[in-house]
Amino acid sequence: MQELGFIGLGIMGKPMARNLLKAGYELVVYDINEQAIEELVESGAKAGRSSKDVAERSEVIITMLPNSPEVRDVVLGRDGIAEGAKPGTIVLDMSSISPIVSQEIAKELAKRQVIMLDAPVSGGEPKAIDGTLAIMVGGPEDAFAEVTEILLHMGSSAVLVGEIGSGNVTKLANQIIVALNIAAMSEAMVLAVKAGTDPEKVFQAIRGGLAGSTVLDAKMPLVLERNFEPGFRIELHIKDLLNALDTAHAVGTPLPLASQVLEFMQALKVDGKAKEDHGGLIQFYEKLAKVEVRR
Ligand code: NAD
Repeated sequence: MQELGFIGLGIMGKPMARNLLKAGYELVVYDINEQAIEELVESGAKAGRSSKDVAERSEVIITMLPNSPEVRDVVLGRDGIAEGAKPGTIVLDMSSISPIVSQEIAKELAKRQVIMLDAPVSGGEPKAIDGTLAIMVGGPEDAFAEVTEILLHMGSSAVLVGEIGSGNVTKLANQIIVALNIAAMSEAMVLAVKAGTDPEKVFQAIRGGLAGSTVLDAKMPLVLERNFEPGFRIELHIKDLLNALDTAHAVGTPLPLASQVLEFMQALKVDGKAKEDHGGLIQFYEKLAKVEVRR
């Protein structure tokens, strides 16, 4: 079995690391939050002292961090992975970050014969716990082949989309589709309530038709219960849509709908709801129409 490193033990990283331990891998872990390291050590991992230390002790290093600046810092910063990694090491970044930054980091690592794959995930905490995430990957084919088995202990699918950065381009596409779906659901359900119908019955009537979706089935029951516990936080979705806009501007593609939904989320953040689930987006529409969608 390969020696694995795992850096970033938050909502997603913790259950993903635990699934690798269950599969029998030796894991060295690190996080700036010491308590997260202790919890993983209790589950059978070894504690790393820094990202550099993890890199010195591993052949494949997985990172699951918030955004581009953290990944850049952990990989290329002081006491980072690049300082400790041997030639031939694979850095498997599973965070959702800017594809442009993935490409920049990979270029720096290549100077040290260290290979990088970007492999963001979709599915959230429940699928991270079950090991059934959908994983979208960018990078060299031979490196992907080397880590496929590892990925399939965390996800039920791992698709190599293309060159480095393609994983995060795919994730941005995923996040645009999810954000616009939640906005469409919110707009429609606020209308349904304002026009005097029962939102539960509207949901049941349409979910099997063309308007039905994974988003509708996942989010509508939570809205009806007024449960906006994350899940996926509004502040993380704002981060993804900002990365989508940066990338779109870099390649020359307007994102007229995504940019609007980004501002709806921004309004909720200003309203103190940044840490709520992105299903809470409906509250933006409810405020405009002065109704609440509930059972
Ligand atoms: P999180 O904030 O819960 O976890 C991030 C972890 O990284 C924290 O434990 C933090 O202490 C650690 N960290 C931050 N900076 C560090 C550093 N310099 N060195 C070491 N550790 C550091 O976030 P999360 O919800 O686990 O999300 C991680 C990534 O996965 C994000 O890019 C997010 O967009 C993506 N994602 C999240 C979900 C979800 O539902 N939560 C779903 C799909 C993808």
